[in-house]
Amino acid sequence: MKRKFTRAVFPGSFDPITNGHLDVIERGRLLFDELIVAVGRSAIKDPLFTPEERVEMIHKILAGTPRVIVESFDGLTVEYARKRRADVILRGLRSLTDVQYEFKLAMTNRAVAGIETIFVMASAEYGFTSSALIREVASLGGDVSNIVPAIVYDRLKKRFKKLKG
Ligand code: ADP
Repeated sequence: MKRKFTRAVFPGSFDPITNGHLDVIERGRLLFDELIVAVGRSAIKDPLFTPEERVEMIHKILAGTPRVIVESFDGLTVEYARKRRADVILRGLRSLTDVQYEFKLAMTNRAVAGIETIFVMASAEYGFTSSALIREVASLGGDVSNIVPAIVYDRLKKRFKKLKG
């Protein structure tokens, strides 16, 4: 029997994208036929980068990666997933705090839209990496070059002149 084509959506704020996100994308990409990295336009209150900047950075980083699409979206993730005819939502899990939050989110999304969420566990080297922490450390001049892609580090350096390198 021929297996059905599966399209997954990986939604997030990606403000900015980190090596942890890229690890989830790389591993998720191997599980599905197509993966849409979807940058939420309304998810966070006080973003460091505009949705356009975030999409542009991710585009550059993932250029030439087969079966991966980068887009931004407004409003409810499940509504966007329905419009894009996605079969599943992909999310990453780093800690028990993530599990608690993601568990509720996944249950709600299944209750309201019948969509499944599939989780990828963070890799050991990036389990501690979060966009919020990167924004904070970079704003104080800390070197985050080994936990974000080079393009992101360059943009952070421009944003926070204090950053070394
Ligand atoms: P959101 O604001 O929707 O949580 P994020 O951009 O912070 O958006 O995260 C998007 C997804 O990526 C979430 O499922 C989050 O748990 C996951 N994620 C973030 N950082 C990592 C990481 N270092 N390793 C694995 N998953 C991660």
